[in-house]
Amino acid sequence: MIEAPIPAGEEQRLAALRSMKLLDTPPDPHIDALLRIAQRLFGVGSALVSLIDTDRQWFKARIGTTSLEGPRNISFCGHTILSEDILYVQDALVDERFVDNPAVTGHPHIRFYAGIALHAPDGSRIGSFCVHDPVPRELTGVEREALSDFRELFEALFVAHQLRMDAAWLQDALGQAERRALIDPLTQLWNRQALHAMLPALLSRAEREGLKVAFIYGDLDHFKRINDERGHAGGDQVLIQSGQRMAAAIRPHDLALRLGGEELAVLALVQSQGELDIIAERMRDCFCRHPFDLDDGPLNVTISLGTALAEAQDVVPGGQNLIERADAALYVAKREGRNRVERG
Ligand code: GH3
Ligand code: MG
Ligand code: MG
Repeated sequence: MIEAPIPAGEEQRLAALRSMKLLDTPPDPHIDALLRIAQRLFGVGSALVSLIDTDRQWFKARIGTTSLEGPRNISFCGHTILSEDILYVQDALVDERFVDNPAVTGHPHIRFYAGIALHAPDGSRIGSFCVHDPVPRELTGVEREALSDFRELFEALFVAHQLRMDAAWLQDALGQAERRALIDPLTQLWNRQALHAMLPALLSRAEREGLKVAFIYGDLDHFKRINDERGHAGGDQVLIQSGQRMAAAIRPHDLALRLGGEELAVLALVQSQGELDIIAERMRDCFCRHPFDLDDGPLNVTISLGTALAEAQDVVPGGQNLIERADAALYVAKREGRNRVERG
């Protein structure tokens, strides 16, 4: 195996990557949607938008893998960023660079790989868009063109993402190193610690702007049954796709969280109860509107939700009183039949 070498100009490359504010951030609905289109177009098991950090590759978007990151030195994408050319491996088992790569000899058993470098606006190759599959095959001329068309679109979405992050209040509260510890590695949502870390900044923004603090507590319905029927890996896929759906259902300034297990939450600032009701209903609807896409076929999933609303000055540190009210409402939603929203 040939390990991915460190390219010339690595410092500038890393600085460009950091300035994009893509690393250790929640799912981006537009990047996820584009990746789904790509995966269907190429007809492959896996499609990734990978960012090459100092010693890891971190997936801004992923289909076909549950991990959010992996070591850089054994990554295919670490090779892809070395040049402007498409990296095309027809069959990894007959390619000396990859034949004994752990991702070839073991899960996900890569045989076919095609990837193209993605740039920051300064031209630095910060990551790659790639597709791979356990079945070896050729890359067609049309697919080569598609790779560079997708590159254009992913790069445009990177810039849009950066502009949103620049505008986001949480940039004032958190640096990248802190973000890394606050992102749940399965769903890419903020974790429970993030709720504590960001609540003070959120409360002061609420007071400044005269907004109320809203908390939506969600719990997937019959998740144990999903694990039993579709396996733990299937359950994990549901959690990953839940995170992506939530990110698409909330507004850019709201926080989507995984509090643990299959407990999901949204922390948002709103003008009124009506506005909170709309967000909660949109979240309920984004789960049941169309089936989840699992390896062994589609699956209908629903979520029950409880909401709570408070003035910023009434929220205790850690937000415990708000969370408890939403949790009690969630309990009612479960009792009343699930797949519904209850006000707390
Ligand atoms: P209800 O509608 O009442 O919420 O039913 P439920 O089956 O969802 O209830 P419960 O909370 O008892 O089940 C949650 C299950 O979630 C139990 C646990 O094994 C599973 N679980 C927790 N974390 C994970 C995870 O990270 N991955 C997977 N696949 N399953 C998980
Ligand atoms: Mg539960
Ligand atoms: Mg549940």
